[in-house]
Amino acid sequence: MMKLKKLIYSIFLFNLIFIYSEFVQARPESKPFPPFRIAGNLYYVGDNYQADYLIVTTQGNILINSGYEEDVSKIKASIAKLGFNYNDIKLFLISHAHGDHAGGGAIIAKETGAKYKVMDADVSVIESGGKSDFQYGNSHDPENFYKPVKVDQALHDGDKVKLGNMVLTAHLTGGHTKGCTTWTMKIMEKSKIYNVVIVGGPFVNPGYKLVHNLKYPTIAEDYKHTFQLLKSLPCDIFLGAHGMYYDLEKKYALLNTSLKNPFIDPAGYKKFIDLKEKDFFSEWAKQKGDA
Ligand SMILES: [Zn+2]
Repeated sequence: MMKLKKLIYSIFLFNLIFIYSEFVQARPESKPFPPFRIAGNLYYVGDNYQADYLIVTTQGNILINSGYEEDVSKIKASIAKLGFNYNDIKLFLISHAHGDHAGGGAIIAKETGAKYKVMDADVSVIESGGKSDFQYGNSHDPENFYKPVKVDQALHDGDKVKLGNMVLTAHLTGGHTKGCTTWTMKIMEKSKIYNVVIVGGPFVNPGYKLVHNLKYPTIAEDYKHTFQLLKSLPCDIFLGAHGMYYDLEKKYALLNTSLKNPFIDPAGYKKFIDLKEKDFFSEWAKQKGDA
């Protein structure tokens, strides 16, 4: 009897630790990060965890990602510190419809009047404030939810979004969310043109069901397509929805000391995508029972 009690207790403890580690994984502590120019007219305005980008054009500015709602004030301060005007944001875009990238979207759209454009498969998630997300829609964690907001335009795979002298391409890289979006653009720096890739989110989160997922039946096929697509993109400047994808802190530290811009990192891009693809295939095999 004692033994059984002990066993139950240790299972209980194990589960607690497991739940705790998932919670910690969901949102590491974020710290402020200095805003800076990445290259040409492309700037970093996020913190050390969630990555937000400002693109300055001849007809106003583009903001990619908002962070959580409480991050908007930090983004405003970062934009001001760079010498730009928050109210010049004419276009607001996201990597995908999770709170850490879209949570402040409603405020930004309201305050700046920016047009909010979202990949079609993520539109309902944004408009429901996270409630229609296939994974987190029924969760009890308030961090998964945010102010719902009407999307101005639904985007489709390959759509081009234009503002002033800039053209951005929206690539559907689904799996992480149904409408997860990888943004590409060309940036001019010292009369050279660079291909920029902002990876939308290639991670298989803890608890994601890749097999028999009734809420997202094509999830595994979507991830598979995502990696094919990401491998086909020309990339000089490697960026993403989180700074950790591309070693933000390490590269930032090198920015003023190395002759070469450290964000120009095609090899790092390839390595990251290959690694995430491997992670996906091994998790898929595990869930299918092949591993
Ligand atoms: Zn996410």
